[in-house]
Amino acid sequence: MEQPKPLLRSLVPVAFADPELLAGEPAYRGDQLRDWVHAKGALAWERMSNLPAAWRQRLAAAWDLTALASVARQVSTDGTRKFLFRLRDGDTVESVIIPMENHATFCLSTQVGCAMACRFCATARGGLVRNLEAGEIIEQVHRLAADLAADPLPEQGGRAFNVVFMGMGEPLDNWDAVAASVEIMTHPLGLAMSRRRVQISTSGPREGLEKLIAAAPGVGLTLSLGAADDAARRRLMPVPGRTTVAEAVALAERYARDTGRRATVAWVLIAGSTDDTEQARRLASQLAGRPFKVNLIPLNELRDDGLAPPAEARILAFQKVLTDAGIDAFIRLSGGRDIDAACGQLRRRRADG
Ligand code: SF4
Repeated sequence: MEQPKPLLRSLVPVAFADPELLAGEPAYRGDQLRDWVHAKGALAWERMSNLPAAWRQRLAAAWDLTALASVARQVSTDGTRKFLFRLRDGDTVESVIIPMENHATFCLSTQVGCAMACRFCATARGGLVRNLEAGEIIEQVHRLAADLAADPLPEQGGRAFNVVFMGMGEPLDNWDAVAASVEIMTHPLGLAMSRRRVQISTSGPREGLEKLIAAAPGVGLTLSLGAADDAARRRLMPVPGRTTVAEAVALAERYARDTGRRATVAWVLIAGSTDDTEQARRLASQLAGRPFKVNLIPLNELRDDGLAPPAEARILAFQKVLTDAGIDAFIRLSGGRDIDAACGQLRRRRADG
């Protein structure tokens, strides 16, 4: 297969001042190009109407402007929208728009597949295929924003969105591209998003958390623990489980304290596996008095692996143990239960034919 050209959208905002990119054009042309690519999210060269045609042609010969083609769009009865995008090398990734009370949340993929092998996750089943580039991550944002602009969510009215790195892949396993995409999102000359609107969700591998602490990007952190004791965590999440619960929590706490924002612990509730009150007590003992809140997420049924969400009474009992220990714990129903909204399901179903 022919090698794709470099992706223009992978450049961070300051890189648009590079003389090599400008190729003799004045500096303000670099500003205009950056605005089209990042601030305006242009998906076609023809839109860049204020750039000289000859320069546009030279740019188009050297760079790719887009990397994603829409393959499927599913809309749930609860408003969740799921997208499958084909990449230039033919593989596919998913992104989701989740309606929230006052805004939409964009759930982005960071890798094709994933190496973390979590038992409850459809993405894990094919292993890691490759990392996404920053431009491939950012283009998901622009494509979802375009969809939202064309078809606004009825209750939300506006077009405001938050971003969570919670789709396919482990974001901290592709840190360079994720760090560059965070910079593009939050830079005043990029997408100019508040850091409060961006959240990295991780399964908590030690090396990844250490990179995050060192880089201090100032965005929110969600840690998915899976289990409150090490043996159970290793069974459920074999690769991130090499980092003990205590280590993962300590590193997430350090990041939370450095950032001055509480971190979130995401806890997937699986019937007969992660839903007993003994585990809730162990989790509470790890988190009590520390800067965390907990999101309890009943499993999105995968249909063919025998795992299922718990009954409501068990979910409430689990929550009560945490709240009795003084920990804020919220039940988050994952959207799109009538579509393939759990991470990796749509891609997997396409791959299965
Ligand atoms: S849950 Fe996340 S980290 Fe675990 S395998 Fe799935 S995509 Fe990877």
